[in-house]
Amino acid sequence: MRSRDDWVAAATQLSIRTGLYIDGRYQSARAGESFECVNPASGAVIAHMARGQAADIDAAVASGVAAWKDRRWRGLAPRARMEVLQRFADLVQQHSQELALLETLDMGKPINDVLGIDLPEVLKTIRYFAECIDKIEGAVTHTDASALHLILHEPLGVVGAITPWNYPMLMAMWKVAPILAAGNCVVLKPAEQAPLSCTRLAQLFVDAGGPPGVFNLVNGFGPEAGKALALHPDVVKLSFTGSTAVGKLLLGYAGQSNMKRVALETGGKSPQIFLNDLYDLDAAVDRAVGGIYDNAGQVCNAGSRLLVQRGIHDEFVRRFIARSALAYRAGDPLDPATTLGPLVSHAHQRNVLARIARGISEGAHLAMGGGSAGALPGGAFVEPTLFTGATANMSICREEVFGPVTAITAFDTEEEAIALANDSDYGLAAAVWTSDLKKAHHFVAQLEAGVVWVNCFGDGDMTQPFGGFKQSGNSRDKHMMSLLSYTQSKSAWFSLA
Ligand code: ADP
Repeated sequence: MRSRDDWVAAATQLSIRTGLYIDGRYQSARAGESFECVNPASGAVIAHMARGQAADIDAAVASGVAAWKDRRWRGLAPRARMEVLQRFADLVQQHSQELALLETLDMGKPINDVLGIDLPEVLKTIRYFAECIDKIEGAVTHTDASALHLILHEPLGVVGAITPWNYPMLMAMWKVAPILAAGNCVVLKPAEQAPLSCTRLAQLFVDAGGPPGVFNLVNGFGPEAGKALALHPDVVKLSFTGSTAVGKLLLGYAGQSNMKRVALETGGKSPQIFLNDLYDLDAAVDRAVGGIYDNAGQVCNAGSRLLVQRGIHDEFVRRFIARSALAYRAGDPLDPATTLGPLVSHAHQRNVLARIARGISEGAHLAMGGGSAGALPGGAFVEPTLFTGATANMSICREEVFGPVTAITAFDTEEEAIALANDSDYGLAAAVWTSDLKKAHHFVAQLEAGVVWVNCFGDGDMTQPFGGFKQSGNSRDKHMMSLLSYTQSKSAWFSLA
């Protein structure tokens, strides 16, 4: 394992690509403007990225349309596309140290988390969808003998992807890999807070033999580049992960333009329910802690509402605080010993601290944390924070904080727990901890969430569809159903009369 000093030295050698990636080459923004990329661990400016706007989106989409029309990607044999995507994964693997460094400098995620979590998941994602390419099957329906009826799955065209900064590469690949595997072209607009790694990924696809124009990337701000992509008449589908507020805007932009399909994954306020009869309190507490403080709580399915049955409540709180103190070490994210990095930006730090202040003013009890851990001067840190005595009407129980902040609410009956869990505009994920299988099934049936974990939290693999109910969105990432969502059916009716 490399030491902090090794990583710091490697960072000085890093060559950062700052251009838009269109038509298989880096380009400046047409208006010549740029924006600053800031390391949230120090506040230092690390790059000036090309600031894409509507004219750049036009160019990227036009490049995708040309690639779509001449069939340079969808016209390849499925196995040939599979080989390109597998080579793409190989190159990502070969460049993992460089990509990890870019990610850590850009968004402050501890380097060992990028290497140990993000990148392995990115590779699994690309390889899974590569393997799926020749597993897409249509159907022959049971018609009268005078006809033959085929249902075919065809790619859509040029698809837009707008992605967030919390797992920059992984969230982008949850979109881009199935979009490409299905035979489409893609224009990716990563989050402006963490654009570096994705900018490199677009190039690696072409280095792997992907035809230019099939995977274009435009960096820039949401209301400029993102909005232009969402309004573009030649984009047939938009796939988004981010906030509910922006998800609602995108639905509007689709209506104002070409009624493009809009796939949304828009965050959550995920409850974890701990029943008196759970098997192993230490295991449950361990996952409750990791479920909210890993990645500094910047996780859409973070377990930010802990519903604990009265009989184990006090002991749960005691062990939660003890475990949190041991589990996280704030520090320089380039140090492999660091397990809690800064938040993505100083603006986000201010936002999270304001939400903590609001929790206090609303009457919740601040049981742990609440401040900005001063691990590094100038870093955008927030301490792991716990509220107890939280009630359903408080903002910390209703609004997504997207930071290391959770709230415990005690309950008495199982019906009360289900009512509390479902009392939310969101419905991304939920968990229940119990040793009673019958109860577990009951909870699974009652909980309004796209993912329900039983006696675990955050577990899964590529076969698990990921997405939400209610205002957590309308789509599913991962699984074959994601791949199929980037296709459209065509019915071919042959007369045999
Ligand atoms: P967060 O608040 O966590 O940054 P956002 O929903 O604002 O989440 O951002 C997620 C993605 O949506 C980013 O890539 C951002 O640039 C983009 N975005 C933000 N506003 C808009 C908008 N008005 N139109 C299109 N994309 C947007």
